[in-house]
This record gives sequence, C-alpha cells and structure tokens, in this order.
Amino acid sequence: MAILNIVKEGDPTLRKVCRPVTEITPRIIQLLDDMQETLIDSNGAGLAAPQVGILRRIAVVDMEDGIVELINPEIIETEGEQEELEGCLSVPDVWGITHRPAKVTVRAMNRNGEIFTVTGEDLDARCFCHEIDHLDGHLFTDKAVRILTPDEVAEIRGE
Ligand code: ZN
Repeated sequence: MAILNIVKEGDPTLRKVCRPVTEITPRIIQLLDDMQETLIDSNGAGLAAPQVGILRRIAVVDMEDGIVELINPEIIETEGEQEELEGCLSVPDVWGITHRPAKVTVRAMNRNGEIFTVTGEDLDARCFCHEIDHLDGHLFTDKAVRILTPDEVAEIRGE
C-alpha cells in the first residue's frame, strides 16, 4: 500500500467528469487499498479518486463501522435537509456551510463486483454527496451557502 498525493484546488483533474469502472482489475484493488491508506493518513472523512489524480468513479468514506468503498456510486434516495460545516482535503484551510440532504442512500459496487446499498445520515450523508460531487468535477466551494471567514475557521479549530 502507499500514501497517494492529494491534488489541490486549481488542478484540472478536480474539474473533470470521471469514468465508470467497468472491470475490477488488480489496479483498481490497489487503488482502493491506497485510497484507504491515504484517507486514514490524512484524517479525512472521505476521499474520491480524482483527488489522487485518477479519473474513475471511486470513493472511500470513513463511516462509524469502518471505511466503505464505493465504486460507481449513485445517490438513489434522499431525505430531509441539513446545513452544516464542510471542508475538503483538496481545498485546505477552507470551510463552508453547505445545504445537503440529512439522509442519503447510495447504491454502489464493492471490490468483489457486488452491488450494495448504504445509507448515511448527518456527516455520512454530507460525505456521500461531497464525494460523488467530486466524481462529476464539483467542489463543495461551488455550492457552499457560505464560506467561513479565516477568523471563524480559527475558532472552529480552537486556535
Ligand atoms: Zn473533497
């Protein structure tokens, strides 16, 4: 496994629409392993393949029970709404308030090629939306209701 370099805002990779995965190859398995390790190392809530320079529809999300791998994820159901804090490993030191569904159900494929669904609430729901947005070239800053000021960010971080 390896820790991958996370590309930052301004990199054109983050603005591209990613291609679906049509076959689970050893390379895809390696990418999933590396993305998991990179997510843990970066202390993030989620990571999408374009953030590590790969234009495929793959994301990993750190949920309570562990990291869930999402291949070709699609949101199939949403419920409620929330306006909460969001940040991104590719947009360091920037935080904003986004409007998202409170509960999100995603259908995706796992590394064994099996289709499954997973439901997340609160942070998990925001994270599903955020990571799937990445696969279509969108950053949270595009849709943030409000971007916090540097003072507000410092307060959140307890500085
Ligand atoms: Zn992000």
